[in-house]
Amino acid sequence: MPDVLDVNDPCLACAIVRGATRPVGGVIARAHGLVLHGVAGPSPVPGWVVLSSERHVRGWYDLPPDAASELGPFAARVMRAQREVLGAEHAYAFAIGDVLRHFHLHLVPRYPQTPQRLWGRAVFDAPAADHLPAPALEDAARALSAALSG
Ligand SMILES: [Zn+2]
Repeated sequence: MPDVLDVNDPCLACAIVRGATRPVGGVIARAHGLVLHGVAGPSPVPGWVVLSSERHVRGWYDLPPDAASELGPFAARVMRAQREVLGAEHAYAFAIGDVLRHFHLHLVPRYPQTPQRLWGRAVFDAPAADHLPAPALEDAARALSAALSG
């Protein structure tokens, strides 16, 4: 698969978890070896966030025990906040990892107004015309951060 930018050399997720790279939305929360941050790429939905392991591991199956135990409850808290604070109708979780080979779980809200062509995995293929401007994404990240720290 042709990639303009190699996200694995150096590893983009490692750069995000140590604060060397700031995705839109920045780092939103941290707990037990996991870091919640804005998605490192264009987004057609506000509040698309990613839970990455602090440690550089390939997949879910490689997570250290503390991160593995925290992953489910942490993801559930985030998805509840996407619904309760951002007004999402539903929230998806995707751990694919074919492009970036550092464990990360996408948590993607779906809103009542999200067009059906962007439902499910199609959100990854949203055309540029659907991408939201950074301020809308930053606002959603701040709202999630406030909800999760409360
Ligand atoms: Zn990494």
